[in-house]
Amino acid sequence: MKAARILIVCCLVNISPGAGQAHKKPPPPDVFLITIDTLRADHVHCYGYENIDTPALDGLARDGIRFTQAFTPSPITNTSHTSILTGLLPSSHGVTDFAVPLAPTHPTLTELLKKNGYHTAAFIGAVILDSKTLAPGLDRGFDFYDNFPAHSQTKSRWGRIERRGMDVVQRAEAWMTAHPAGSHFVWVHLYDPHDPYEPPPPYALAYKDRLYDGEIAYADSALGGFLGYLKNIGRYDNALIVVVGDHGEGLGEHREDTHGIFLYDSTTHVPLIVKLPAQLHPDQVVKTQVRTTDILPTVVDWLGVPLPERLDGASLKPYFGGAEERDRTAFGETDYPLRFGWAPLRSVRAEGFKFIEAPRPELYDLQADPRELANHYQASNLTVQKFRVMVAEVKAKAFAPPAVGAAAQGSEAQGSSDALKALGYQGQSGGLSANAAETSQLPDPKDKIEEQNLLHSAMIASDDNRTDQARQALEKVLQLDPKSPTAARQLGELELHTGDYAQAAEHLKQAREVRPEDATAAFYEGQAREKTGDFAGARDALEASLKLTPGQFPARLLLGQVYLGLKDPKNAEDQFEAALLLQPKSAEAQRGLSQAQRLQKSEH
Ligand SMILES: [Zn+2]
Repeated sequence: MKAARILIVCCLVNISPGAGQAHKKPPPPDVFLITIDTLRADHVHCYGYENIDTPALDGLARDGIRFTQAFTPSPITNTSHTSILTGLLPSSHGVTDFAVPLAPTHPTLTELLKKNGYHTAAFIGAVILDSKTLAPGLDRGFDFYDNFPAHSQTKSRWGRIERRGMDVVQRAEAWMTAHPAGSHFVWVHLYDPHDPYEPPPPYALAYKDRLYDGEIAYADSALGGFLGYLKNIGRYDNALIVVVGDHGEGLGEHREDTHGIFLYDSTTHVPLIVKLPAQLHPDQVVKTQVRTTDILPTVVDWLGVPLPERLDGASLKPYFGGAEERDRTAFGETDYPLRFGWAPLRSVRAEGFKFIEAPRPELYDLQADPRELANHYQASNLTVQKFRVMVAEVKAKAFAPPAVGAAAQGSEAQGSSDALKALGYQGQSGGLSANAAETSQLPDPKDKIEEQNLLHSAMIASDDNRTDQARQALEKVLQLDPKSPTAARQLGELELHTGDYAQAAEHLKQAREVRPEDATAAFYEGQAREKTGDFAGARDALEASLKLTPGQFPARLLLGQVYLGLKDPKNAEDQFEAALLLQPKSAEAQRGLSQAQRLQKSEH
């Protein structure tokens, strides 16, 4: 009986486009990687959630292998996607924050497939994965990477920072149609379930009390559209398709509204479905623990392409058909808290336990307590000691990026920082590294999560021009932590926009007292003080900002004008000259320079 079944499977495999042509090797299968952002495993129908319809995911699971216990090592989009595309833990690939370039020493799945003759393209659903700004290096190996326009005229978030799932898949389909020949590797990123939750009709109505689910149902419909397209053009059956969530969503569990700060299952447990060519092993369910770092090794192994030298994941092929039954250790890492000055977290999930290394460490017995509510941490506990050694081993292998100049460090370009805020992400890059000894002295994120929720909602409100709501949320953060540099700086920026320059200057001064290395806050304070006519104050702030980051053209220009206001044409001249070195064609800087020179002449 078993032999008969194997025979049938073998016959199926041979029915491929090249089968009729004797001695001609069929082309390697198309590979489609579909990442669905912010997708909790327990909010998908085929994962046991009854309150939603996800027919596309369910159908793909019927045609393939569904992993019920898949975990991402990171609860943050860029970092998690980089782990999927490299098979490495965040500390191994080094992309632990937004805008950190992926080092060329780490080969990506795309590059490996490209080298083997694949045509490659990526279609992203949010500017957070834009390779020109917030995700440099992720486009390596792609023939086409569908970035966002550098300058968008629209005020709406659609097209400016986000694309609806249907838009993303239509762009992917157009590319497929224009490039029909050869084997393809196409990555499609559906951002929809990420907050703010605004599903389009009819999902907005059908899920009006559960808008997050509505976004998932909508993303599923976009996936369904894409799979339908592949079936129509005859590229579904022979394709290897992987669908995975990049991370989950807190939804208030452990008081976390969204994701990024904690490493609980609510944000690390994701759906993972693998459909093999010819629908091998249909409807298989794998209940053992696996990781999203296993995706690259699996694809590469399936295609017979040599594996990269260094990998943290391993091929899932042994699980296909049920031969392998062992759990794999899942590590978790988040440095996102560092952006706010809070301690980074590390976790190990193995043997039915989860250990979280934090200023106040945690240990959960996942069998008895799957929601991770009762902390059983004791330093003397043997599981704790063993897991602690494992965390230390991972840390010891961390990737050390080549040293960069102080000016380049810790300063995202202004444009990418604005985009981050519009997507609800906060805080500042740079500062402490997760491996620094001082991180153990930082506040435990468990004590700060209310602040993070407020900061996040303030960013979304601000992008939506709900200024009063943003201000209220930020003021509440300052009540919880009067020294929060993130809240003070945001409030300062907000008042700068509303035109309350005196208030803005005060908030920004406060932010800089806590974070004197924040060049952007100093620049904003200079702007605010200049508007109030406090030229001496503006000069001090701008000088401080430029000392930290010398190459800021707008700050140079403004400082030149401030010196004119201070009746100091000599220093004004210096600033306009420095500005012209940065932007030689600037008419404003040229005008300033001639004004400063005229004033000096008339003084003599
Ligand atoms: Zn994400």
